[in-house]
Amino acid sequence: MSFTEKSSSAIVGGKTSQLAVVCHGATDLRVEERGIPIPADGEAQIQVGVTGLCGSDLHYYSHGANGTFKILSPMVLGHESCGIVTALGPNLPKTVNLKVGDRVAMEVGVYCKTCKFCKIGRYNLCSNMRFASSAKTFPHLDGTLREVMTFPAELLHKLPPTLDLPLAALAEPLSVVLHAFRRAHLTPGARILVLGAGAVGLLACSLASASGASSVIAVDIEQGKLDFAAQMNWATGTYLLPKGPRVSGLDALAAAQTGWEGLKSSDAVQAVEGLSEGFDAVFECTGVESCMQLAVMAAAPGTKVLFVGMGTPNLLLPTGPAMLREVDLIGVFRYANCYPDALALLGSGRLGDVGKMVTQRYPLDRAGEAFEDMRRGRDKDGNTVIKPMVGNLELR
Ligand SMILES: [Zn+2]
Ligand SMILES: [Zn+2]
Repeated sequence: MSFTEKSSSAIVGGKTSQLAVVCHGATDLRVEERGIPIPADGEAQIQVGVTGLCGSDLHYYSHGANGTFKILSPMVLGHESCGIVTALGPNLPKTVNLKVGDRVAMEVGVYCKTCKFCKIGRYNLCSNMRFASSAKTFPHLDGTLREVMTFPAELLHKLPPTLDLPLAALAEPLSVVLHAFRRAHLTPGARILVLGAGAVGLLACSLASASGASSVIAVDIEQGKLDFAAQMNWATGTYLLPKGPRVSGLDALAAAQTGWEGLKSSDAVQAVEGLSEGFDAVFECTGVESCMQLAVMAAAPGTKVLFVGMGTPNLLLPTGPAMLREVDLIGVFRYANCYPDALALLGSGRLGDVGKMVTQRYPLDRAGEAFEDMRRGRDKDGNTVIKPMVGNLELR
Protein backbone atom coordinates (compact mmCIF):
# COMPACT_ATOMS: atom_id res chain seq x y z
CA MET A 1 0.00 0.00 0.00
CA SER A 2 1.44 3.37 -0.89
CA PHE A 3 -0.29 6.55 0.13
CA THR A 4 0.24 10.29 -0.22
CA GLU A 5 -2.53 12.73 0.38
CA LYS A 6 -3.63 14.95 -2.51
CA SER A 7 -4.82 18.33 -1.37
CA SER A 8 -7.25 20.38 -3.41
CA SER A 9 -9.85 23.05 -2.99
CA ALA A 10 -12.66 20.51 -3.11
CA ILE A 11 -15.82 21.65 -1.40
CA VAL A 12 -16.97 19.53 1.51
CA GLY A 13 -20.10 20.50 3.39
CA GLY A 14 -19.98 23.94 1.76
CA LYS A 15 -16.37 24.50 2.83
CA THR A 16 -13.20 24.80 0.79
CA SER A 17 -10.74 24.69 3.66
CA GLN A 18 -10.40 23.01 7.01
CA LEU A 19 -8.67 23.43 10.36
CA ALA A 20 -5.69 21.26 11.22
CA VAL A 21 -3.64 21.06 14.42
CA VAL A 22 -0.03 21.16 13.29
CA CYS A 23 3.07 20.62 15.42
CA HIS A 24 6.02 22.70 14.20
CA GLY A 25 8.35 21.80 17.07
CA ALA A 26 8.51 21.82 20.86
CA THR A 27 5.41 23.62 22.27
CA ASP A 28 4.88 25.18 18.84
CA LEU A 29 1.38 23.99 18.05
CA ARG A 30 -0.57 25.92 15.41
CA VAL A 31 -4.16 25.60 14.30
CA GLU A 32 -3.89 26.20 10.55
CA GLU A 33 -6.17 26.43 7.55
CA ARG A 34 -5.51 23.65 5.09
CA GLY A 35 -6.95 22.49 1.80
CA ILE A 36 -9.37 19.60 1.72
CA PRO A 37 -7.88 16.33 0.47
CA ILE A 38 -9.70 14.36 -2.21
CA PRO A 39 -9.70 10.56 -2.30
CA ALA A 40 -7.60 8.93 -5.02
CA ASP A 41 -7.62 5.27 -6.10
CA GLY A 42 -8.54 2.96 -3.25
CA GLU A 43 -9.03 5.80 -0.79
CA ALA A 44 -11.86 7.28 1.21
CA GLN A 45 -12.41 10.79 2.48
CA ILE A 46 -13.43 11.02 6.12
CA GLN A 47 -14.90 13.81 8.18
CA VAL A 48 -12.94 13.34 11.38
CA GLY A 49 -15.12 13.10 14.47
CA VAL A 50 -12.76 13.04 17.42
CA THR A 51 -9.18 12.16 18.20
CA GLY A 52 -8.00 10.87 21.56
CA LEU A 53 -4.68 12.35 22.63
CA CYS A 54 -2.02 9.95 23.80
CA GLY A 55 1.44 10.01 25.31
CA SER A 56 3.23 10.06 21.97
CA ASP A 57 1.26 13.13 20.83
CA LEU A 58 2.20 14.80 24.11
CA HIS A 59 5.88 14.00 23.55
CA TYR A 60 5.81 15.65 20.12
CA TYR A 61 3.98 18.62 21.59
CA SER A 62 6.37 19.00 24.54
CA HIS A 63 9.73 18.14 22.95
CA GLY A 64 9.17 18.25 19.19
CA ALA A 65 10.19 14.60 19.31
CA ASN A 66 9.05 11.23 20.63
CA GLY A 67 12.17 9.48 21.89
CA THR A 68 14.54 9.38 18.91
CA PHE A 69 11.84 10.34 16.36
CA LYS A 70 12.21 14.06 15.70
CA ILE A 71 9.74 16.21 13.80
CA LEU A 72 11.59 17.25 10.62
CA SER A 73 8.73 19.15 9.00
CA PRO A 74 5.38 20.42 10.34
CA MET A 75 3.13 17.45 11.15
CA VAL A 76 -0.53 17.07 12.08
CA LEU A 77 -0.73 15.15 15.38
CA GLY A 78 -3.27 12.53 16.50
CA HIS A 79 -3.92 8.88 15.64
CA GLU A 80 -6.70 7.57 17.90
CA SER A 81 -9.64 8.53 15.80
CA CYS A 82 -12.99 7.88 14.21
CA GLY A 83 -15.30 9.73 11.84
CA ILE A 84 -17.76 9.55 8.98
CA VAL A 85 -17.06 8.60 5.36
CA THR A 86 -17.80 11.63 3.15
CA ALA A 87 -16.53 10.40 -0.24
CA LEU A 88 -15.01 7.33 -1.85
CA GLY A 89 -12.30 7.31 -4.49
CA PRO A 90 -12.29 5.07 -7.57
CA ASN A 91 -11.01 1.49 -7.73
CA LEU A 92 -11.67 0.44 -4.15
CA PRO A 93 -10.31 -3.00 -3.24
CA LYS A 94 -12.97 -5.73 -3.49
CA THR A 95 -12.74 -6.38 0.25
CA VAL A 96 -13.93 -2.84 1.02
CA ASN A 97 -17.62 -2.54 1.79
CA LEU A 98 -18.10 1.13 2.60
CA LYS A 99 -20.57 3.80 1.60
CA VAL A 100 -20.82 7.52 2.20
CA GLY A 101 -22.23 8.15 5.67
CA ASP A 102 -20.68 5.07 7.28
CA ARG A 103 -19.19 5.63 10.72
CA VAL A 104 -15.64 4.31 10.83
CA ALA A 105 -12.53 4.05 12.96
CA MET A 106 -9.29 4.78 11.14
CA GLU A 107 -6.41 2.36 11.63
CA VAL A 108 -3.65 4.80 10.80
CA GLY A 109 -0.63 2.57 10.15
CA VAL A 110 -0.12 2.11 6.40
CA TYR A 111 1.82 -1.12 5.86
CA CYS A 112 3.41 -2.32 2.63
CA LYS A 113 1.79 -5.79 2.27
CA THR A 114 4.94 -7.09 0.56
CA CYS A 115 7.65 -7.39 3.23
CA LYS A 116 8.14 -10.66 5.12
CA PHE A 117 6.32 -9.38 8.22
CA CYS A 118 3.28 -8.21 6.28
CA LYS A 119 3.18 -11.59 4.54
CA ILE A 120 2.88 -13.45 7.85
CA GLY A 121 0.25 -11.06 9.23
CA ARG A 122 2.55 -9.25 11.63
CA TYR A 123 2.21 -5.95 9.83
CA ASN A 124 2.94 -3.94 12.98
CA LEU A 125 6.56 -4.97 12.31
CA CYS A 126 6.40 -3.90 8.63
CA SER A 127 9.77 -2.52 7.58
CA ASN A 128 8.03 0.08 5.40
CA MET A 129 5.29 1.09 7.85
CA ARG A 130 4.14 4.71 7.70
CA PHE A 131 2.11 5.60 10.76
CA ALA A 132 0.09 8.82 10.78
CA SER A 133 1.38 11.35 13.33
CA SER A 134 4.65 9.46 13.88
CA ALA A 135 7.92 11.13 12.88
CA LYS A 136 9.61 7.72 12.61
CA THR A 137 9.52 7.98 8.81
CA PHE A 138 10.02 10.96 6.49
CA PRO A 139 8.12 12.53 4.86
CA HIS A 140 5.84 12.27 7.88
CA LEU A 141 2.26 11.12 7.41
CA ASP A 142 -0.18 13.64 8.86
CA GLY A 143 -2.37 12.58 11.77
CA THR A 144 -6.06 12.96 12.50
CA LEU A 145 -6.31 16.25 14.42
CA ARG A 146 -8.17 18.03 11.62
CA GLU A 147 -11.59 18.17 10.08
CA VAL A 148 -11.14 16.13 6.92
CA MET A 149 -8.64 13.49 5.82
CA THR A 150 -8.24 10.86 3.16
CA PHE A 151 -6.92 7.39 3.86
CA PRO A 152 -6.67 3.95 2.24
CA ALA A 153 -10.23 2.63 2.45
CA GLU A 154 -9.14 -0.83 3.55
CA LEU A 155 -7.75 0.66 6.77
CA LEU A 156 -11.15 1.97 7.80
CA HIS A 157 -13.26 -0.19 10.09
CA LYS A 158 -17.03 0.18 10.28
CA LEU A 159 -18.40 0.71 13.77
CA PRO A 160 -20.90 -1.73 15.22
CA PRO A 161 -24.34 -0.03 15.41
CA THR A 162 -24.20 -0.11 19.21
CA LEU A 163 -20.98 1.90 19.39
CA ASP A 164 -20.99 5.70 19.66
CA LEU A 165 -18.49 7.76 17.69
CA PRO A 166 -16.40 9.26 20.47
CA LEU A 167 -15.94 5.86 22.13
CA ALA A 168 -14.72 4.30 18.89
CA ALA A 169 -11.55 6.41 19.17
CA LEU A 170 -10.64 4.14 22.10
CA ALA A 171 -10.24 1.28 19.60
CA GLU A 172 -6.65 2.41 19.05
CA PRO A 173 -5.37 2.09 22.64
CA LEU A 174 -7.62 -0.96 23.11
CA SER A 175 -5.96 -2.57 20.07
CA VAL A 176 -2.59 -2.15 21.79
CA VAL A 177 -4.02 -3.87 24.86
CA LEU A 178 -5.64 -6.64 22.82
CA HIS A 179 -2.38 -7.28 21.02
CA ALA A 180 -0.61 -7.55 24.38
CA PHE A 181 -3.27 -9.99 25.63
CA ARG A 182 -2.95 -12.13 22.51
CA ARG A 183 0.79 -12.31 23.06
CA ALA A 184 0.22 -13.19 26.73
CA HIS A 185 -1.86 -16.36 26.06
CA LEU A 186 -3.56 -16.12 29.46
CA THR A 187 -5.54 -18.94 30.99
CA PRO A 188 -8.88 -18.31 32.75
CA GLY A 189 -8.55 -17.29 36.38
CA ALA A 190 -5.15 -15.67 35.82
CA ARG A 191 -3.85 -13.23 38.41
CA ILE A 192 -2.83 -10.05 36.65
CA LEU A 193 -0.71 -7.09 37.66
CA VAL A 194 -1.07 -3.85 35.69
CA LEU A 195 1.61 -1.22 36.24
CA GLY A 196 0.35 2.23 35.28
CA ALA A 197 -3.33 3.22 35.34
CA GLY A 198 -3.35 5.66 32.42
CA ALA A 199 -5.68 4.98 29.51
CA VAL A 200 -3.79 1.88 28.30
CA GLY A 201 -3.36 0.48 31.81
CA LEU A 202 -7.03 1.06 32.62
CA LEU A 203 -8.10 -0.68 29.41
CA ALA A 204 -5.78 -3.56 30.35
CA CYS A 205 -7.50 -3.80 33.76
CA SER A 206 -10.89 -3.68 32.09
CA LEU A 207 -10.03 -6.36 29.53
CA ALA A 208 -8.42 -8.55 32.22
CA SER A 209 -11.63 -8.43 34.28
CA ALA A 210 -13.79 -9.07 31.23
CA SER A 211 -11.60 -12.05 30.25
CA GLY A 212 -12.11 -13.81 33.56
CA ALA A 213 -8.97 -12.91 35.48
CA SER A 214 -9.40 -13.88 39.14
CA SER A 215 -7.29 -10.99 40.44
CA VAL A 216 -6.45 -7.69 38.79
CA ILE A 217 -4.17 -5.44 40.79
CA ALA A 218 -3.61 -1.91 39.45
CA VAL A 219 -0.57 0.13 40.49
CA ASP A 220 0.00 3.83 39.91
CA ILE A 221 1.52 6.87 41.60
CA GLU A 222 -1.80 8.74 41.45
CA GLN A 223 -4.59 7.77 43.80
CA GLY A 224 -7.22 9.36 41.51
CA LYS A 225 -6.49 6.89 38.72
CA LEU A 226 -6.54 3.93 41.12
CA ASP A 227 -9.86 5.10 42.56
CA PHE A 228 -11.19 5.26 39.01
CA ALA A 229 -10.08 1.67 38.30
CA ALA A 230 -11.72 0.48 41.51
CA GLN A 231 -14.96 2.44 40.92
CA MET A 232 -15.26 0.93 37.46
CA ASN A 233 -14.83 -2.56 38.98
CA TRP A 234 -11.85 -3.13 36.70
CA ALA A 235 -9.43 -3.88 39.54
CA THR A 236 -9.91 -6.25 42.46
CA GLY A 237 -7.21 -4.35 44.32
CA THR A 238 -5.01 -1.28 43.92
CA TYR A 239 -1.67 -0.12 45.25
CA LEU A 240 -0.40 3.45 45.40
CA LEU A 241 3.30 3.35 44.60
CA PRO A 242 5.11 6.09 46.54
CA LYS A 243 6.30 8.73 44.08
CA GLY A 244 10.09 8.99 43.96
CA PRO A 245 12.55 10.92 41.81
CA ARG A 246 13.04 9.64 38.24
CA VAL A 247 16.19 7.50 38.55
CA SER A 248 18.05 5.06 36.34
CA GLY A 249 20.39 2.09 36.55
CA LEU A 250 21.17 0.74 40.02
CA ASP A 251 19.18 3.53 41.69
CA ALA A 252 16.13 2.51 39.69
CA LEU A 253 16.74 -1.14 40.57
CA ALA A 254 16.80 -0.24 44.28
CA ALA A 255 13.57 1.74 43.86
CA ALA A 256 12.04 -1.24 42.04
CA GLN A 257 13.02 -3.58 44.88
CA THR A 258 11.47 -1.22 47.45
CA GLY A 259 8.38 -0.89 45.26
CA TRP A 260 7.96 -4.66 44.97
CA GLU A 261 8.42 -5.11 48.75
CA GLY A 262 5.71 -2.49 49.32
CA LEU A 263 3.36 -4.05 46.79
CA LYS A 264 3.97 -7.55 48.16
CA SER A 265 3.01 -6.53 51.68
CA SER A 266 0.04 -4.39 50.59
CA ASP A 267 -3.52 -5.30 51.58
CA ALA A 268 -4.40 -5.81 47.92
CA VAL A 269 -1.80 -8.56 47.45
CA GLN A 270 -2.06 -10.04 50.95
CA ALA A 271 -5.79 -10.55 50.44
CA VAL A 272 -5.10 -13.20 47.77
CA GLU A 273 -3.47 -16.45 48.83
CA GLY A 274 -0.05 -16.99 47.26
CA LEU A 275 -0.06 -13.71 45.33
CA SER A 276 2.98 -12.39 47.17
CA GLU A 277 4.94 -15.09 45.31
CA GLY A 278 4.16 -13.34 42.05
CA PHE A 279 1.58 -12.79 39.33
CA ASP A 280 0.67 -14.94 36.31
CA ALA A 281 1.23 -12.00 33.99
CA VAL A 282 2.47 -8.46 34.44
CA PHE A 283 1.38 -5.75 31.99
CA GLU A 284 3.93 -2.94 32.22
CA CYS A 285 2.19 0.17 30.90
CA THR A 286 4.42 2.98 32.21
CA GLY A 287 7.71 2.69 30.32
CA VAL A 288 9.46 3.92 33.48
CA GLU A 289 12.72 2.08 34.21
CA SER A 290 12.01 1.21 37.86
CA CYS A 291 8.55 -0.08 36.92
CA MET A 292 9.97 -2.21 34.12
CA GLN A 293 12.38 -3.72 36.65
CA LEU A 294 9.60 -4.18 39.21
CA ALA A 295 7.57 -5.98 36.56
CA VAL A 296 10.22 -8.71 36.30
CA MET A 297 10.39 -9.10 40.09
CA ALA A 298 6.60 -9.31 40.38
CA ALA A 299 6.20 -12.09 37.80
CA ALA A 300 5.87 -15.59 39.32
CA PRO A 301 8.17 -18.38 38.09
CA GLY A 302 7.18 -19.64 34.64
CA THR A 303 5.09 -16.58 33.78
CA LYS A 304 5.56 -13.48 31.65
CA VAL A 305 6.00 -9.75 31.50
CA LEU A 306 4.40 -7.77 28.69
CA PHE A 307 6.30 -4.56 28.00
CA VAL A 308 3.61 -2.25 26.67
CA GLY A 309 4.78 1.18 27.88
CA MET A 310 7.57 2.84 25.94
CA GLY A 311 9.99 5.57 26.93
CA THR A 312 13.10 3.81 28.25
CA PRO A 313 14.95 2.27 25.31
CA ASN A 314 17.97 1.18 27.38
CA LEU A 315 17.77 0.05 30.97
CA LEU A 316 19.29 -2.15 33.63
CA LEU A 317 17.04 -5.19 33.65
CA PRO A 318 17.26 -7.94 36.32
CA THR A 319 17.83 -10.75 33.83
CA GLY A 320 19.01 -13.16 36.55
CA PRO A 321 15.59 -13.29 38.23
CA ALA A 322 14.02 -13.63 34.79
CA MET A 323 16.30 -16.47 33.63
CA LEU A 324 16.42 -18.46 36.86
CA ARG A 325 12.64 -18.37 37.08
CA GLU A 326 11.91 -18.62 33.34
CA VAL A 327 9.99 -15.38 33.18
CA ASP A 328 9.32 -14.55 29.51
CA LEU A 329 9.95 -10.92 28.62
CA ILE A 330 7.61 -10.01 25.78
CA GLY A 331 7.77 -6.84 23.72
CA VAL A 332 4.54 -5.29 22.50
CA PHE A 333 4.56 -2.80 19.62
CA ARG A 334 1.27 -1.32 18.45
CA TYR A 335 -1.02 -4.05 17.03
CA ALA A 336 -1.95 -6.15 14.03
CA ASN A 337 -5.43 -7.40 13.09
CA CYS A 338 -6.89 -6.09 16.36
CA TYR A 339 -9.22 -3.27 15.27
CA PRO A 340 -12.29 -5.37 14.39
CA ASP A 341 -12.17 -7.17 17.74
CA ALA A 342 -11.48 -3.94 19.63
CA LEU A 343 -14.51 -2.25 18.05
CA ALA A 344 -16.71 -5.29 18.69
CA LEU A 345 -15.59 -5.33 22.33
CA LEU A 346 -16.30 -1.62 22.75
CA GLY A 347 -19.73 -2.07 21.19
CA SER A 348 -20.56 -5.14 23.28
CA GLY A 349 -20.58 -3.37 26.62
CA ARG A 350 -18.43 -6.17 28.06
CA LEU A 351 -15.77 -3.69 29.15
CA GLY A 352 -18.15 -1.73 31.35
CA ASP A 353 -18.62 2.00 31.15
CA VAL A 354 -15.43 2.80 29.20
CA GLY A 355 -16.98 6.12 28.12
CA LYS A 356 -16.10 7.47 31.57
CA MET A 357 -12.45 7.34 30.51
CA VAL A 358 -13.12 10.24 28.16
CA THR A 359 -12.62 12.87 30.84
CA GLN A 360 -12.40 15.99 28.63
CA ARG A 361 -13.59 17.15 25.20
CA TYR A 362 -12.20 20.12 23.24
CA PRO A 363 -12.88 21.60 19.79
CA LEU A 364 -9.90 21.65 17.39
CA ASP A 365 -9.09 25.31 17.96
CA ARG A 366 -8.57 24.58 21.66
CA ALA A 367 -6.14 21.70 21.06
CA GLY A 368 -3.36 23.67 22.77
CA GLU A 369 -5.39 23.77 25.98
CA ALA A 370 -5.99 20.02 25.70
CA PHE A 371 -2.25 19.38 25.49
CA GLU A 372 -1.50 21.68 28.42
CA ASP A 373 -4.16 19.98 30.56
CA MET A 374 -2.75 16.61 29.60
CA ARG A 375 0.77 17.71 30.50
CA ARG A 376 -0.41 18.84 33.94
CA GLY A 377 -2.61 15.77 34.40
CA ARG A 378 -5.48 18.10 35.45
CA ASP A 379 -7.85 20.40 33.61
CA LYS A 380 -8.57 23.97 34.73
CA ASP A 381 -11.36 22.74 37.01
CA GLY A 382 -8.94 20.36 38.72
CA ASN A 383 -10.35 17.17 37.16
CA THR A 384 -8.00 14.26 36.44
CA VAL A 385 -7.14 13.86 32.75
CA ILE A 386 -7.40 10.25 31.60
CA LYS A 387 -8.31 10.40 27.91
CA PRO A 388 -8.83 13.89 26.49
CA MET A 389 -10.53 14.00 23.10
CA VAL A 390 -10.30 16.74 20.52
CA GLY A 391 -12.52 17.21 17.48
CA ASN A 392 -15.10 19.35 15.77
CA LEU A 393 -17.76 17.02 14.52
CA GLU A 394 -21.12 17.27 16.18
CA LEU A 395 -21.43 13.79 17.57
CA ARG A 396 -24.20 11.39 16.80
ZN1 LIG B 1 -1.44 6.42 20.91
ZN1 LIG C 1 5.41 -4.61 5.16
